[in-house]
Amino acid sequence: MSEALKELYAQHSDCTGCSLSKSANNVVFGFGNESSDVVFVGEAPGYHEDKEGKPFVGAAGQLLTNLLASIGMKREDIYITNVLKCRPPGNRDPLPEEIEACKPLLMKQIDIIAPKVVVTLGSFAARVILGKVMPMSKIHGQPVKTDGYLVFPTYHPAAALYARTTMTSLEDDFKALKELLDSGVPHVREEAKTEQLGLF
Ligand code: SF4
Repeated sequence: MSEALKELYAQHSDCTGCSLSKSANNVVFGFGNESSDVVFVGEAPGYHEDKEGKPFVGAAGQLLTNLLASIGMKREDIYITNVLKCRPPGNRDPLPEEIEACKPLLMKQIDIIAPKVVVTLGSFAARVILGKVMPMSKIHGQPVKTDGYLVFPTYHPAAALYARTTMTSLEDDFKALKELLDSGVPHVREEAKTEQLGLF
């Protein structure tokens, strides 16, 4: 792990920035390849993630692994984290004050890793990264350029576990993600010529 990430995580290992610190077993920072061009951002740790201290290790995590495999990628090829680093009790939705408290940590993570593409999984992650509320049915699978990286919104794997139509959309989005990555997407920070590729 880079010194910058180590230092960031050390600073937050006993975080009490919101009330979730009282009930969570672990602060689940993130896991994977910090040199990757792609960072996935989910919503929050669930039961298994809270126990193990790693993101996406339950059923939704297995689906994510399968979706990555379907486009020739492994978990080791990406870095994955969540909007919230501590589990909301009963897996309830994140509260606005929890998101506000935890958002600086997420943004610092992304800043340090400096990916080309941030894949948001689910509406909470899309809202936090894009800074606005938009229906997932309208925005999924379509890259959006921000100042630092491309954002690729898609559904949260947990939403697809028991919904066939969402699963189909998620599978199609992963195919579109592969096409985007295979197109040699430039680093937005270094290359301000993305429009010339006709991506938007
Ligand atoms: S969810 Fe984020 S802000 Fe809240 S206690 Fe955990 S690390 Fe701190």
